[in-house]
Amino acid sequence: MAGRVLITGASRGIGAAAARLFAREGWDVAINYNSSREAARRLAAELSGLEVRAVPIRADVSDPEQAEGLVREAEFSLGGLDCVVCNAGIALPQQLLTDTKVEQWRRLMSADLDGMFYVLKAAIPGLVRQKRGAIVTVSSMWGLTGGSCEAAYSAAKAGVIGLTKALAKELGPSNIRVNCVAPGVVATDMNGHLTPQDLAALEEETPLGRIGAPEEAAQAVVFLASDRASFITGQVLNVDGGMVI
Ligand code: NAP
Repeated sequence: MAGRVLITGASRGIGAAAARLFAREGWDVAINYNSSREAARRLAAELSGLEVRAVPIRADVSDPEQAEGLVREAEFSLGGLDCVVCNAGIALPQQLLTDTKVEQWRRLMSADLDGMFYVLKAAIPGLVRQKRGAIVTVSSMWGLTGGSCEAAYSAAKAGVIGLTKALAKELGPSNIRVNCVAPGVVATDMNGHLTPQDLAALEEETPLGRIGAPEEAAQAVVFLASDRASFITGQVLNVDGGMVI
């Protein structure tokens, strides 16, 4: 059954691909963005053509007041929420932990982990009142395995998995499912810095022999949000071409 979804970080990449898939399945979509205003507006206009409501909402999820404002505006615009997808995230340049500046660590944690806390803290009361809903978080294979020279990102993404599992237990009695998608290497701006050699090496490491498309990660998000996953909660679904087995 289609519903109303708020997707954080939906102006580009996996979030934008998820917005398109949700809309194609008839969901109304709140498209959160931070800096990519034009991309979010274009996406909203595109999705409105599918006869669903699609509203772009600017908010930096790493700011607790903006995160709360985002949830209130999404609830107001769509008349409530049935699903929240916590997808917004950033990565740091690959570097040793000892080279990571305190400011970089804080910025990463704020965007990738604190932001989820702020958004979910604001959204959960509405879902609990409805006694129905789904939450999908986006982690990473590095949250499961740890990535060398990716310590801050790996720590935040492991935190996302812990948050997902704890919330699944906490919210199950309220009929709210909480699941996580852990992508491998996906072709988005986040990997724009990789050289052709880097990409070739990553492809070689991947059992399916290629990197993923944003739509492939987004399909897992929409599945976990949908009634097709009605008895699934607290799970981490790897979408990584077999990188983590
Ligand atoms: P992307 O193409 O770089 O897009 C990131 C999105 O997050 C953008 O829409 C951006 O919005 C938004 N965002 C970043 N910081 C934000 C903030 N503080 N407040 C609100 N929105 C914010 O990245 P992606 O590859 O689609 O990544 C999406 C998620 O998947 C992230 O959590 C990432 O860690 C995870 N992931 C990605 C990969 C991969 O290989 N691509 C692998 C594993 C996990 P603006 O542009 O509007 O600022």
